[in-house]
Amino acid sequence: MADRDGKIWMDGEMVDWRDAKIHVLTHTLHYGCGVFEGVRAYNTVDGTAVFRLQEHTDRLFNSAKILRMTMPFSKEQVNEAQRAVVRANKLESCYIRPLVWIGSQKLGVSPKGNQIHVMIAAWAWGAYLGEEGMKRGIRVKTSSYTRHHVNITMTQAKAVSNYTNSILANMEALDDGYDEALLLDSSGFVSEGAGENVFVVKNGVIYTPDLSAGALNGITRNTVFAICKDLGIEIVQKRITRDEIYIADECFFTGTAAEVTPIRELDRLEIGAGSRGPITEKIQSAFFDIVNGRNAKYANWLTKV
Ligand code: PMP
Repeated sequence: MADRDGKIWMDGEMVDWRDAKIHVLTHTLHYGCGVFEGVRAYNTVDGTAVFRLQEHTDRLFNSAKILRMTMPFSKEQVNEAQRAVVRANKLESCYIRPLVWIGSQKLGVSPKGNQIHVMIAAWAWGAYLGEEGMKRGIRVKTSSYTRHHVNITMTQAKAVSNYTNSILANMEALDDGYDEALLLDSSGFVSEGAGENVFVVKNGVIYTPDLSAGALNGITRNTVFAICKDLGIEIVQKRITRDEIYIADECFFTGTAAEVTPIRELDRLEIGAGSRGPITEKIQSAFFDIVNGRNAKYANWLTKV
């Protein structure tokens, strides 16, 4: 990824992609205290626009607050920088990655005395779990790794260090021939995917774990809540067990990268008909209408670049 043309926004300046470098004694590299976002811009009917930019920036600032990192830029500056990066790289649709990290002035667990840095990169990124997965559904494995407990790492922060857990779960699932992992919380209830929130459909009602299961408060999750309201589909947040998914009618993941991805199998057991279910398809289609600017009700969720 490092060797390509383009621009990356670093601490207020557009830097050539290949020159966007940091020192090996960077605090975050050693101790893992950093926060980031995953944002998407779509080539909408009205031109390129960032989806729910303000919500992503708000979450980035909240993540920084939780990890006691003082943001050196305002939300307005970070919003504008994200739009500028998309423009500078001449991208029509893309993934945007803001990252906040602690600098290299000093090491030691205490980060005090170090500078806080921000960078924003953007690149083209298609369906995260594959085009075929979007249509047919993906195969998921319940992870042997437990999701973070809410009082160990802070689960409402999109923290860099939280992703070691995601990486372990994802690698295990891929090594075992699955597409993605599903993690349970420390009490054994369903939490979320390695980088996605999870939803279950049973008898026309949609269920998703409440955030006490350690799941990230996903912006796509919140978008699905709005879609369900519009479609008149009841949605309930509750504790969910893995066997509830085995006997569900449908199941799907959501995330900025994963968008709305159907799940056709969990632990080698087919869910419902073992393909994308009709309610999942409806939500997927409503989601793509919104992000592509085809639903005027949500025009304010799209910020032109
Ligand atoms: N959970 C985790 C662990 C994630 O990394 C993500 C992706 N940011 C999500 C859920 C989904 O969040 P969002 O819809 O805001 O991308």
